[in-house]
Formats: sequence, C-alpha cells, structure tokens
Amino acid sequence: MKLSVQIIIGLILGIIVGIVLNLFAADLFETLDKFVFGPVGTIFLNLIKMLVVPIVFFSIALGAAGIGDPKKLGRIGGKTIGYFLITTTVAIVIGLGLAYLIQPGAGGGFDTQGQANFKAEEAPPVVDTLLNIIPTNPIDAMAKGDMLQIIAFAIFVGFAVAVLGEKTKGVRRLLEEGNDILMYLVNIVMILAPYGAFALIASAVGSFGLDALQAMGLYFGTVLLALLLHAIITYGTAVSTLGKMNPLKFFKSFAPAMSVAFSTSSSSGTLPVSMKTAQENLNVPKQISSFVQPLGATINMDGTAIMQGVATVFIAQVYAVDLSLTQLITVVLTAVLASIGTAGVPGVGLIMLAMVLKQVGLPVEAIGLVLGVDRLLDMTRTAVNITGDASCAVIVAKSEEKHGGAPQKTPDLDI
Ligand code: ASP
Repeated sequence: MKLSVQIIIGLILGIIVGIVLNLFAADLFETLDKFVFGPVGTIFLNLIKMLVVPIVFFSIALGAAGIGDPKKLGRIGGKTIGYFLITTTVAIVIGLGLAYLIQPGAGGGFDTQGQANFKAEEAPPVVDTLLNIIPTNPIDAMAKGDMLQIIAFAIFVGFAVAVLGEKTKGVRRLLEEGNDILMYLVNIVMILAPYGAFALIASAVGSFGLDALQAMGLYFGTVLLALLLHAIITYGTAVSTLGKMNPLKFFKSFAPAMSVAFSTSSSSGTLPVSMKTAQENLNVPKQISSFVQPLGATINMDGTAIMQGVATVFIAQVYAVDLSLTQLITVVLTAVLASIGTAGVPGVGLIMLAMVLKQVGLPVEAIGLVLGVDRLLDMTRTAVNITGDASCAVIVAKSEEKHGGAPQKTPDLDI
C-alpha cells in the first residue's frame, strides 16, 4: 500500500479512536495517551525534528551554491518573497471577508468574563526578528534552531562556495552528500509516519473532544472554510496559470506532506517531508525546492494569517467592537508581519495573534476564547502553510525554465 494511503488511514483511525475514547472511556484515554499515543507521537516528532536543522542548512547552502550567479539568486529570492507576500495578503483578506459574512462572534453567549484569567504570552516584536536575521554566532543559531538565522548563514556559505568554484569543490561535494544522507534518513523516518500520525491525532482529538467544537463551531467552521477556499482558489489558480500544472495533480501529489503537516502541526517539522515530496512527486528541481521551501516554512504562513484574521473579527464581534477600515488594514499588515515572525512549530500562530489584537486595541486575554479549538485548527492551517510553500516552488520552477532551469516533468501520481 502506498505510504500516503497508509498515513491517511492512520489519521482517520486516530480521529475515530480519539472521539470514541473521549466520549466513552476518558480514563482509558488518559492511560493510553500517557503510555501509547504520547510516546509514539513524540518519538515520531523527535525523529523528524532531529533532521530539521541540518536539512535547512545543507539544502539552503546547496541551493544557493547551485543557483550560484547572484543575479539568479536575487531573481529567485525576489519571486519567492513576492509570491509569499501576495498570497499571505490574499489569505487574510479571505479570512476577514468570510468572518464578516458568517459573523461567528455575533451570536452571543460567549463568556468574556471567564477569559480574564488567561495570561497571554508576549509576542516577540517583528522588528527584532527581522533585525536578528544575521546571526552573530551561527553555531548558537543552530543550537537554538533559529531558522531565519540558519537560512541567512547558509545563503552566505552557499554563495561563497559558488563564487570560489573549483577551490571549494570538496565542500560542495560534502554539502551534496550530506543532503543525500539526510534525504535518505527522511525516507526511513517516514516508514513510521502512519503510526506517528495515528498517535498524534488520537491524542489531540481525545483530549479536546467534540465539546470544544460545539461551543466554537461557527468560529471553527469559518476558519476551516477560509483555509479550504484559499487552498483551492488561490493555490489552485496560481498553480494552474503560473505553474502550468493541473491543480488536482498538485494537491494529490503533495497529499503525503500535507497529512504529515496535519498530524505534526509544525511546518518546520514537516520540512524534510515536504521537500522530498515536492522534489519527487511535483518534480520541482532540487535547487529550487531547497531554497524556496525552507524559506517558506519559516516566513510564509498563509493558514496562520487566515486564523488571525478570522479570530480578530470574531473577538471584535464578541466584544461588540466595530473595526474601522484603518483597523482592518492594520490587521492585514500586522498579520503579514506576524506570518514572517511566526516560527513553524505548534501553537505559535496563537501567540502572534496577541500582536495583531494589541495593534487594533482588542483585549489580548480574549485569546482564551479561541484557545479551546486552536489545537485542531493548528493542524489544518499548518497543512495550508506548507502547501503555499510548495505551490511557490512549483511556480518559481516553471518560471525559471525559460532561464535555462531544469525542465519539469509532468508529475506522475505514483505516491
Ligand atoms: N503550527 C503552525 C506551523 O507550523 C504555526 C502556527 O500557526 O501556529 O506552520
């Protein structure tokens, strides 16, 4: 059976087991979560996390070395960042639009008093994140897993390798072989993916259950619908017009990576798998995938931006605050910045929501209102986040063909 089918079966079984245990056997769930779901999920997560820092460094350095010519590097970088910014803006606009249409917070009955106890974590200022892109100590950046800093250092190293050419061919081979080793390890770790997906989902659904969903149904549904529309319309159109690829093929070929993102709620954690899937199933040349996807997993979070847009309007509705047009534009701008500053790990989008709320003068404690369903939404938005990166990789690859980039084959569906 294909791995992607196995992962999806794992996900469905996990959801069913989680719901059944939550409804009928809460005690049994606690034991199973402690001794089975928790440990299996953690082992799987740690195995992929183990590969993230080396993969980001090796692949970006190799990608930059492969692109070589600074002009080409600048062109690809410009297209990538341009695409990220435009799609993230579209994402928030879809989120805001749907939130106004559906009015998830207008129904009343929300306990705003109870939220006073919620202590919001301080969101890191985005300016700091941007200023800190250049690491003063690259080894420290790797030890801390600071992706933007690792990316910056890797681009410098790759650039030097490209410029020094013959002189550094040993290092280039080292990067290539290192990359091969890491990709091989991804394959091995992925054998565990169906079990990891099962355990992670069973644990999430089992502990949050359907109660949370009932109270927050409309908010949950609005975010979900916005995510779906953004994926289908924005990515579908971009992939078919700019990437000249059948959108159905795109989504189907990329499904294995989406299901891993769904179960891990981490763009960074899924990176090894999403790069492999884009290179093998979507035929994105390694050079481009290794540059676009790690960058995307770090700074491009359309799904997160959608959640932040909907959550802001939802909270404004619950508190009966009318947001002015200027405030809405502020939401768009802050959510784009927040998307750049959001780390690709579980739950950070919610912390960054604090920044958006603060910017428009809404109470930060109101995050407590959306907390209950966020674990489930995090899974879905992470899948959208990495799909956006992959769609960018497909489009950049296509547009580079006319500059003599490696031609793309039509993807086959044998995944
Ligand atoms: N979990 C998301 C990701 O890794 C970030 C977030 O929205 O919390 O892409």
